[in-house]
Amino acid sequence: MKIDLSTCDLSTFRAQIESFVSGNLSSSLQQAGRLSTSVFCDFRAMMEWQKILHSNGMAAPSWPIEFGGCGWDPERILVFREVCASLDAPQLTSMGIQMLGPILMSYGTDAQKSELLPRILSGEDFWCQGYSEPSAGSDLGSLSTKAERKGDFYVVNGSKIWTSLAHHSNKIFCLVRTAKERSPKNSISFLLIDLDTPGVEVRPIVSLDGAVEQCEVFFTDVKVPVQNIVGEENDGWKVALSLLEHERGGASYYVGLQRKLELIKEFSESYLVGNIVAERCKDELLDIEADVLSLTYLERGIAKSSEGDSRIGALSSLTKLIGTELGQKLDEISLSLRGRDVLVVMEHELDPYYIGERLECDKDAAAFNSYINNRASTIYGGTAEIQRNIIAKKILML
Ligand SMILES: Cc1cc2nc3c(=O)[nH]c(=O)nc-3n(C[C@H](O)[C@H](O)[C@H](O)COP(=O)(O)OP(=O)(O)OC[C@H]3O[C@@H](n4cnc5c(N)ncnc54)[C@H](O)[C@@H]3O)c2cc1C
Repeated sequence: MKIDLSTCDLSTFRAQIESFVSGNLSSSLQQAGRLSTSVFCDFRAMMEWQKILHSNGMAAPSWPIEFGGCGWDPERILVFREVCASLDAPQLTSMGIQMLGPILMSYGTDAQKSELLPRILSGEDFWCQGYSEPSAGSDLGSLSTKAERKGDFYVVNGSKIWTSLAHHSNKIFCLVRTAKERSPKNSISFLLIDLDTPGVEVRPIVSLDGAVEQCEVFFTDVKVPVQNIVGEENDGWKVALSLLEHERGGASYYVGLQRKLELIKEFSESYLVGNIVAERCKDELLDIEADVLSLTYLERGIAKSSEGDSRIGALSSLTKLIGTELGQKLDEISLSLRGRDVLVVMEHELDPYYIGERLECDKDAAAFNSYINNRASTIYGGTAEIQRNIIAKKILML
């Protein structure tokens, strides 16, 4: 008998999802998820997992059924995410499903919805986010990439920076200036651009951990059809801010944090019994565990009261701030616990004769890269200082 996942009780739902995920997640996908050192998992593994989810109608649990989502209530969406995290499923990237999808549903034309949403789900289109520029990060409203209307096209000139995964993407959603006024409220538009249009150049940036995740994107006289605008011309600022709420708050930080905490405790308890550093870290871990639990209740409460709408206003700044700072604290503890072994792993990369003393080798390297990569989590999507400003103004009314 086929169980209706939208109406069955929550424990049956959890059991069904556990059975689905463990039955479809190969050991290599699980390994990729477990050793992921960033919000972006290994690209091929992530796309493979997205295809599996898509072919079972589960690529976008939070989307309404009419757009190819599951139409589940908030509790089911969170259970789905908890199960995926606890079994180390690769995390799907946020730019298409979490960020652009809901924006197209709210502001897109019927043609944009019917053409683009299915391609986001299937992974045929892979989107990146073109907001930041060399002189416009926190002060995003000062961006200068220009789009001039010429007949049926906009001609775009300028550049974007820190564009995550642009080197894997075929499309970019961009903020562009379409009028000379200084106020972003009536001079910026939200434009969809194919990255294979003549005049677009993507240059990867090699980051501190040696990986390429971010790029620069240059636009020189790039012709973009006018129907690629989302919302009205010069009225893209509200679209832009709405997308940022989905970026910061659409996630459930507690889910990944709980798993990270579990793995760190498991490591500490199996390898470091009686170790002086591990003893010292115990209290810190307990404090973090309490904070993760508070965040869990906060995010569950927000999800329930917003009835599944991931646009949660300034609360998205609160969860992003708490979630990312807790993630960094956990990475710091993970590094302290592994101590010099992290350095041994680095030497091992240089020394072909080194044989890891224990099978934790890959995980030590992952802990180190995760620590480095996660330093950026309080920068991207708006820095921690900017989130504090928003919380002060919009939540505390200071
Ligand atoms: C790993 C990574 C991935 C990214 N991915 C993307 C992406 O895919 N797409 C995209 O568009 N962008 C992306 N970004 C860019 C990111 O959004 C910006 O880096 C961020 O908004 C900060 O801008 P900035 O780097 O120009 O720093 P600045 O804005 O120059 O800030 C410098 C410092 O000043 C502080 N500061 C600035 N203004 C204020 C203020 N008013 N009050 C208090 N403090 C302030 C900041 O907090 C920061 O500490 C990414 C960045 C990183 C690091």
